[in-house]
Amino acid sequence: MSTQTVNNAQAHESMFEAVLARLDAAAKLMNLSSDVLNVLRNPQKEVKVSLPITMDNGSIQVFEGYRTVHSTHLGPSKGGIRYALDVNSDEVRALAAWMSFKCAVANLPYGGAKGGIKCDPRAMSVGELERLSRAYAKAMKDVFGVNRDIPAPDMGTSGREMAWMLDEYNKVVGEDSPGVITGKPIAVGGSLGRDAATGRGVMVNTLAALKKMNLNPSQVTAVVQGFGNVGSHAARLLSEKGIKIVGIGDHTASYYNEKGIDIQAALDFAAKNNRVLKGFTGATEIQASELLISKCDVLVPAALQNVITVDNATKIQAKLIVEGANGPTAPEADQILNDKNIICIPDILANSGGVTVSYFEWVQNKAGYYWTEEEVNTKHDLKMEIAFEAIWNNSAKYKSSMRLAAYITALEKIELGVKLKGAY
Ligand code: NAD
Repeated sequence: MSTQTVNNAQAHESMFEAVLARLDAAAKLMNLSSDVLNVLRNPQKEVKVSLPITMDNGSIQVFEGYRTVHSTHLGPSKGGIRYALDVNSDEVRALAAWMSFKCAVANLPYGGAKGGIKCDPRAMSVGELERLSRAYAKAMKDVFGVNRDIPAPDMGTSGREMAWMLDEYNKVVGEDSPGVITGKPIAVGGSLGRDAATGRGVMVNTLAALKKMNLNPSQVTAVVQGFGNVGSHAARLLSEKGIKIVGIGDHTASYYNEKGIDIQAALDFAAKNNRVLKGFTGATEIQASELLISKCDVLVPAALQNVITVDNATKIQAKLIVEGANGPTAPEADQILNDKNIICIPDILANSGGVTVSYFEWVQNKAGYYWTEEEVNTKHDLKMEIAFEAIWNNSAKYKSSMRLAAYITALEKIELGVKLKGAY
């Protein structure tokens, strides 16, 4: 096994173990001090709360809520809040650690955190969701803070939940503090450009990688898995840059058209079709399992975790993978992609556009002064290009994959924070 291989037998059992496997591999390659590694292997703070909520039928249901702060060495912790049935302490811990690395990669003055509530948001009424969101914000009032810990939306949450949580937090602390939470609707302090930011980051990273590979976007094809926030904006922005999108898919259907798919037509179709692609006629429907291994130059997994595995990695035809989703590649598949010389832009770089514009939202909230969408996009693109270049260079320096180079780049910064701030 090469030093770059992350062959972690426990990865399937624990998401946090999978994070630690990649952390350990990067630490070994860069010779990170064992003291710093030990600090980062242990999250700083983990809070679990029970939230009794009156349901619409009058019964009381108790929900589990979590918030884990992984690190605050580079600044207050930042990370989303997920509503899903499989939320648990291990997953929240893993996602919190990823946020520490992602914020460091994107050069943001933040540590990492993540939160979640174990619930099925689609099975709850709007009133039940509002009561649950408010109860969670109140229970976490001592964890959150504009200079302490700043949440944002994640799977199952959106600007709506952020507005409820902001309002509850403001009531509890007795002042208006819009910067305590990001991903808010524009009317209550959100930032222009936030909605498309993660897809935009995918586009900027794709163009930067193609340039290094001496490939002209107008001669390149791409497949995008996921047609939600990240996937739909990524597909639109990539096609606007001249890349031919030959495959798209969501949880309802997958489509392929070697002549190229009209992405605006797909967006219009989904907008009128409950935001799903099933029934789209601008391409041939294919099996979901065929999408990731279909013929293309660029593959953008932008739906969910663990979709590139030892079972399909050998069949992937793309030269470049740009991870829009969090954790789409199982650790065991990394070495297969490396052996096939497929360049993989890892999630902590590829999807960091979202947290970058969340940072801009926080800056605007603190200043009480708001930027135009063009200002946001220009600042975003520059930050992404700088982050990409640093990781590309570290990949050459350490002769490592882009993934390990991204971890190393993050660890170089966090190591300084740990050492300069010191310990008791
Ligand atoms: P979303 O809910 O808006 O969209 C998810 C998409 O994935 C939908 O089109 C859905 O149909 C599709 N999908 C679900 N299951 C699927 C399956 N089995 N096969 C194919 N497609 C499937 O979510 P999103 O915000 O776009 O997030 C997608 C991923 O990106 C997640 O991993 C998320 O953590 C990550 N991410 C999102 C952001 C952001 O700003 N939204 C930022 C960073 C990372």
